[in-house]
Amino acid sequence: MVSRVIPVDPFDLVIFGGTGDLAQRKILPALFRRYCAGQWNDDVRIIAAARSAHDQAGYRAIVAESLAQHAPRQAADPGNLDGFLNRLQYLRLDASSDDGWENLSGQLTDLRIRAFYFSVGPGLFAPLAEKIRQHGLANEQTRIVVEKPFGHDLDSARALNATLASYFSENQIYRIDHYLGKETVQNLMAVRFGNMLFEPLWNSQYVDHIQITVAETVGVDGREEYYERAGAMRDMVQNHLMQLLCLIAMEPPAKFDSDAVRDEKLKVIRALDPVQPHHIVRGQYSGGPDGPGYREAVGNPRSTTESYVALRAHVSNWRWAGTPFYLRTGKRLVARSSVINVIFKDAPHSIFGAEAGRHANTLSIRLQPNEGITLKVTIKEPGQGGMRLIDVPLDMSFAEALGPGNQEAPDAYERLVMDVIRGNQTLFMRGDEVEAAWAWTDPIIAGWQARGDVPKPYDSGSTGPGDAELLMKRDGRHWQGIKP
Ligand code: NAD
Repeated sequence: MVSRVIPVDPFDLVIFGGTGDLAQRKILPALFRRYCAGQWNDDVRIIAAARSAHDQAGYRAIVAESLAQHAPRQAADPGNLDGFLNRLQYLRLDASSDDGWENLSGQLTDLRIRAFYFSVGPGLFAPLAEKIRQHGLANEQTRIVVEKPFGHDLDSARALNATLASYFSENQIYRIDHYLGKETVQNLMAVRFGNMLFEPLWNSQYVDHIQITVAETVGVDGREEYYERAGAMRDMVQNHLMQLLCLIAMEPPAKFDSDAVRDEKLKVIRALDPVQPHHIVRGQYSGGPDGPGYREAVGNPRSTTESYVALRAHVSNWRWAGTPFYLRTGKRLVARSSVINVIFKDAPHSIFGAEAGRHANTLSIRLQPNEGITLKVTIKEPGQGGMRLIDVPLDMSFAEALGPGNQEAPDAYERLVMDVIRGNQTLFMRGDEVEAAWAWTDPIIAGWQARGDVPKPYDSGSTGPGDAELLMKRDGRHWQGIKP
């Protein structure tokens, strides 16, 4: 199956922070793959802007190297590579002064879609918005893309929203959460709302509980300063895990349009109960053969920042009354794995007797690696020997579904950057969603601070602190394994 590509209208895209890690590893490779797929053509101009000095040839050589690393199949074709690099210009510019802005405005003369990607530290989001307006670079067709982190708490998120709103309308602001661009996450909506099979069972009557796991094997490498101030709660739970929870828990929107979907997600966040202190576990990884522990890595022997969180949340509404949502995320865990497991209740009565055991259907939505969806169903074990039951997976791997020769699931940034150009905000967070998520997160963090809470140590390469297992055990449940 070859996916259908509908070319987008001509556009100008300015990437502030064009020499940075995100631009080189994600944004430019995503644009390059879409160029190779025929999604946009020679009418397009991409301007990378940053503070350091590079001539055009020097910058293009840097990008060519990044593309060879992050989009190797497409970069192997010299025609593709040259075609893309020719659309790319570099501009030296300072986000916090007027240096370089006249040059930028000299290049942006066409009246057409104009997107500004803020791939710089969060301290520059507000100054950039101001400079764009000040230099008359914004028009009706302008949109801005804002990276995470969006604020540090409710007050700072509100202040940033207010600043951006003074320069741009909400339908021009694209707050990115790259988890929403993942093929599986969009498929989650297709599975829920495109099939009759699941939605009737998607409630507390049939679902026992839901587990959302985002496990990483990496430590804080290279992001020590930011992470020490943020911790797992701010870095992962407030945005990525919260967004996944919303998509699982939300009511069907009347249509698949950006405000209808985001209205429903917002209702979920607002329906979340405050988390009780005994329903949350914080952890911090210790050193081991694979590297230093968290405290050593950040150079703070007394750090109380968490690199792991597990918690039990509850969505207080008719659909989910009594169904717990267990969320966990951590660094230096046993495997890199992001997965949502929907665990259905046991059949009300086993006609096969107690010896057949308990068999709960589980729907697993894998975000990484191997994006795909698996439904575990119970069947008779084949062969002689009576009625023995086993659970087998009905597996839909997207790499396989895409067919031979087309085994690459599109990267989240491909989808999201093209959505910015198309003007589709469905997979971006609205300002009120972000604020509601902080309003839920802030009291949890304030509670830790008030109690002087210290995270529990856990071994690098493990599944996290033992207390996270207890959190489940107390409820008569267990975590699904963290598998690569
Ligand atoms: P980085 O430090 O690698 O790059 C920052 C870029 O900003 C560089 O190009 C630098 O030249 C430019 N810059 C800094 N000060 C500037 C100024 N005054 N004027 C103009 N340009 C300036 O950072 P990054 O890792 O690429 O992250 C960029 C943003 O994306 C951050 O907000 C980060 O939180 C977010 N983000 C990054 C990742 C990632 O994987 N790297 C993932 C999610 C979100």
